Amino acid sequence: MLKVEQLEKRYDGRTVVDKLSFHVRRGECFALLGPNGAGKTTTLKLALGLVAPDGGRIWLVGEPVPARAREARARVGVVPQFDNLDPDFTVAENLVVWGRYFGLPDAQLWQKVPYWLEFAGLSGREKAKVGELSGGMKRRLTLARALVNDPDILFLDEPTTGLDPQARHLIWERLRQLMQAGKTLVLTSHFMDEAERLATRLAVVDHGQLIAEGSPRALIDRHIEPDVIEIYGDNAVPWARAAGLADVRLEVSGETAFFYGEGLVDLEERLDAEGLRYVRRPANLEDVFLKLTGRELRD
Ligand code: ADP
Repeated sequence: MLKVEQLEKRYDGRTVVDKLSFHVRRGECFALLGPNGAGKTTTLKLALGLVAPDGGRIWLVGEPVPARAREARARVGVVPQFDNLDPDFTVAENLVVWGRYFGLPDAQLWQKVPYWLEFAGLSGREKAKVGELSGGMKRRLTLARALVNDPDILFLDEPTTGLDPQARHLIWERLRQLMQAGKTLVLTSHFMDEAERLATRLAVVDHGQLIAEGSPRALIDRHIEPDVIEIYGDNAVPWARAAGLADVRLEVSGETAFFYGEGLVDLEERLDAEGLRYVRRPANLEDVFLKLTGRELRD
């Protein structure tokens, strides 16, 4: 459904996509993960033919991009990072007007409006103005709008950024429905829980380069010890640095110390004995991400 090879993009002489190669098969949910500025949005725009590459090759739904980007985009749905719904139109009009860009007849579009609104959880709101909708409703309407041309593949740029937990869960549920209906999804995210839940495969990118690729489980197994103990509070970090434990890896982030290892039973006994506060959990995708991309802030 999507294949990029040795993709390159420079802005003002600065490389923001650096010889990136990956592919997405039909029915997959593929996530591009990376810190702010890693080049995720630029990669999506390149794949859609909205930005011209400085090198490399792209095929989207079998069409070469940018040469046949228009033909390819007719079979693609896009949920951009920032909702760009038309505030002058009603909820229903936003869907119908979007459908006209694909040359679909009005009568056919109006007929499908109730179906799309039901999918978006917006039944009965067809006459509402966009400004009357909550952030979660706008996101769902943007998602419904991406479906008007019955696309084979959807591109979603940070689909749940800025939403509260309830609204995020609703979007995830809808995305899973789309996967069950056979759609292919490509999403960017910096939320590890989102990627771990949805993605069948993911690529971690940083500084425009692919630094790891695989299923969430495979990446966790490959890069991280199975067990984690997080110690936090005033004395956590000095205690952790002085603990002198064998066979564990220590990482520090702010006032939290992370111990990675297998079992970690001895450590747990010592923490219990000393009355320190800690959380014990299995390793997750966030541990992989922080190990590969570092813990310093990216603004
Ligand atoms: P991400 O989506 O991973 O946060 P982006 O793809 O948005 O990253 O941006 C990657 C880098 O490219 C950033 O440093 C950003 O400032 C830069 N960039 C993106 N678009 C442009 C542009 N149109 N002109 C100049 N620089 C850009």
